[in-house]
Amino acid sequence: MRMKYYIAGHRGMVGGAIMRRLQARQARGEAMEIVTRTHAELDLTDQAAVRGFFAEERPDVVILAAARVGGIQANNSYPADFVYDNMMIACNVIHQAFSAGVTRLLQLGSSCIYPRLADQPMREDALLTGPLEPTNEPYAIAKIAGIKLCESYNRQHGTDFRSVMPTNLYGPGDNFHPENSHVLPALIRRFHEAVQDGRAEVTVWGTGRPRREFLHVDDMAEASLFVLELDKATYDANTDPMISHINVGSGSDVSILKLAQMVAKATGFTGRITTDPSKPDGTPRKLMDVSRLARMGWTARIGLEEGIAETYDWFHRAETLRA
Ligand code: GDP
Repeated sequence: MRMKYYIAGHRGMVGGAIMRRLQARQARGEAMEIVTRTHAELDLTDQAAVRGFFAEERPDVVILAAARVGGIQANNSYPADFVYDNMMIACNVIHQAFSAGVTRLLQLGSSCIYPRLADQPMREDALLTGPLEPTNEPYAIAKIAGIKLCESYNRQHGTDFRSVMPTNLYGPGDNFHPENSHVLPALIRRFHEAVQDGRAEVTVWGTGRPRREFLHVDDMAEASLFVLELDKATYDANTDPMISHINVGSGSDVSILKLAQMVAKATGFTGRITTDPSKPDGTPRKLMDVSRLARMGWTARIGLEEGIAETYDWFHRAETLRA
């Protein structure tokens, strides 16, 4: 049967990676159709527009990778936009998918749904056991609402709507802004520019001691399709109707200083690495428990060193093209 996939957010880092994966399968002869709309073509916060889209296209499968996203600064400055846009996107896409008879839906979330002081590594059942990190609480509330929408439609209507919660993602298509991006792309840019300018020292923010987990976006795309396509018996046997979301991570973390050393190696920087403790460290540690997904049969493949090298190549090529 020729399946029709709708990817919401196909221009984002994860949506884009999922799109490349599906297109590769299509190129290998798999019968499928991929439907997309740009933001300008379809405003996902507009209920009537989303209803019209689903009535017209009638997809079989929906991948919900669209969201208003941003770093700590953006979340702090525009909390109303973050909670409103993301709740509207979740409500509109999930409800209209149900109304249009979509058989499968996969929603992408974030590790910020967990309490700020959750036990590490963070298990799926840590959800709603404590206060959230205040800086991204509005975003997290919208993502939690999305999980609960899926679960409630499954329980009331027998749908098969699933949610995956990725750890920190990186890779091609990331935001490499020097101040507003996350740590890995920020360090790739900083070390690259230090090499280009012949500087002997690079400074990383904070003490260098916090630990973070990183997952390559191509692994995330593979995991997303794995969960989406997992047979229902295996899925049901490994999830709970009220705690149905699934963590996706690499299963290990590194200190920021170690990360900086890896980026230095990838970029060919041989100078000194210093720390700047006047900048915030943030959470001491953020690591996902990925045993649920491992029991289902998926583990990450792309090692951090290899992933950084590949991401640096991509960044370098993009910079060269821009120059
Ligand atoms: P977080 O995981 O939500 O805390 O977000 P980030 O990716 O922004 O930061 C992770 C850690 O990396 C924090 O301890 C930062 O202080 C540290 N860090 C070191 N250098 C940088 C940098 O250049 N940019 C960013 N964003 N973080 C950095």
